[in-house]
Amino acid sequence: MFWKPFSKNQEKQILEVIRNAEKNCSGEIRVHVDEYCKSDPLLKAANVFEHLAMHNTALRNGVLIYVALKDRKFSIVGDVGINQKVPEHFWEQTKEAMLELFKAGQPVEAICFGIKEAGVKLQAFFPPSESDRDELKNDISYGA
Ligand code: CA
Ligand code: CA
Repeated sequence: MFWKPFSKNQEKQILEVIRNAEKNCSGEIRVHVDEYCKSDPLLKAANVFEHLAMHNTALRNGVLIYVALKDRKFSIVGDVGINQKVPEHFWEQTKEAMLELFKAGQPVEAICFGIKEAGVKLQAFFPPSESDRDELKNDISYGA
């Protein structure tokens, strides 16, 4: 029923990186992994973002790291709160570094790197605050 590309330990590692990244900023980071993506990974990511109701944050600062493992496609999408504040090519460097890791056959490292970078990069725009809470469950979801 469920496609499980990662081991329990790898999942744990990814979730731990999300938890740590969210200490750096008030943003909320999630990961979605598909096997294939026949369309534009940005469009697909936007659909998944919607489906996961990731806009349910006070500052509209959710970030989704989307990966289609077998097609080796991926994208990073942020909610409107982020897009209003960050420069246009904000995610480019992060994506380039992730791409290198994917090419090297290290998808878990690529995902973890993307999460870490998102946390660090969002710090300036969405600093962590006292009242900050975990608005979106730290989770990895899987599609087909
Ligand atoms: Ca938060
Ligand atoms: Ca979270």
